Amino acid sequence: MLRLKTNILTPVSAQETRFIPQAIITIEKDVISGISTNGDYDIDLTQSLCLPGFIDTHVHLSQHFVRGRHCPHLLDWLNLHIFQEERRSRDAAYARQVATCFFADMVSAGTTTAVIYTAPFAVACNTAFEAAESLGVRALIGKTMMDQNCPDYLRENTLKSVEESIELYRRWHDKSPLLDYIFTPRFAPTCSSVLMEKTADFASSHDAFIQTHLSENTDEIAWVKELFPASSSYTAVYADHGLLTPRTLLGHCIHLQDAELALLAQSGSAITHCPDSNFFLKSGAFPWRIIEKQGIPFALASDVGAGTTLAMPHVMQMAHYRQEFTPLSLEEVFYRATLAGAEILHQADTLGSIAVGKQADLVFRTLPNGVEHSASSLLSLLTYRANELPVNQVYIAGKKVHPRP
Ligand SMILES: [Zn+2]
Repeated sequence: MLRLKTNILTPVSAQETRFIPQAIITIEKDVISGISTNGDYDIDLTQSLCLPGFIDTHVHLSQHFVRGRHCPHLLDWLNLHIFQEERRSRDAAYARQVATCFFADMVSAGTTTAVIYTAPFAVACNTAFEAAESLGVRALIGKTMMDQNCPDYLRENTLKSVEESIELYRRWHDKSPLLDYIFTPRFAPTCSSVLMEKTADFASSHDAFIQTHLSENTDEIAWVKELFPASSSYTAVYADHGLLTPRTLLGHCIHLQDAELALLAQSGSAITHCPDSNFFLKSGAFPWRIIEKQGIPFALASDVGAGTTLAMPHVMQMAHYRQEFTPLSLEEVFYRATLAGAEILHQADTLGSIAVGKQADLVFRTLPNGVEHSASSLLSLLTYRANELPVNQVYIAGKKVHPRP
């Protein structure tokens, strides 16, 4: 048992953030077993602000070393910077170096759960799982699948791509409570119908997670229309191939038509919104209120390497800035970086906020002097001046992962 005295800032819902000063958090094994405002404690962290670990719902691990490479157009950026870099993760030593660095940077940025794409090589994915397991990080990880319209050095044989993904699922799905596999067809242009159908068949019959990209860029949408003339829209391509399930996460979803929104709402699939990436690649602005009105679940994501940083407070800041004509509340954006991520992963009963019975995924940040101790003041600081709140300790499932013990 461990008892920490600190100041808690936690989401309760999209409308409410709770601040509990001078609170004592009791951790037993991996779980928060008590929160009180008086009693004994073992560790004094009253100079820190304690947040739930952020949940990054869409990030490309194998692009970590090339994040923020300038080229403000999706398809050119992939060809110029990304495919060449992903190729390097075919080598196990390089893949391990990227993964180790990625997870260390992720926890030191205050993120405790990530939903990850790796390069299209089994070794890159397996190495990422091993690095996550060794550090004690919470993650869903998938090998990116692509069997057409991409450079030869990344193109997979269709059946081999599916078989390797299933093998990785079988190896990692039940191995640790912190880890799971997620099937990862990159996006419709680089995936054949056979690949999408076989992936959907296996994932649906095993209740497994799926992730892909949808409607990020207007040239990409036109290309999908050419490649899949039988489907009525980009969203329909995924629906027609069986990929839209309540365990599907779709990156971006910027330019959707009404019929596509209806299809998504009906499917129960969720959106991962990546405002930093969308700004970086000039992809467009996410229709926040329209998506919300449709009742489609969504959560925030860094989308490194088109996102420039793993720091989720920066993503929160960009979410505010990108909604040029739509004021968002501090509380709803904080919720989208934490509890909403847990909801789209079907883990809201265990992750995403600080509450009794939840997993002890806790991030402590040093509080600067002269800050008013209230929920709104601290949320403003976290959103717009997070560099003044350095991360000093991170726990995942009750174990300290940063700094390494
Ligand atoms: Zn992405």
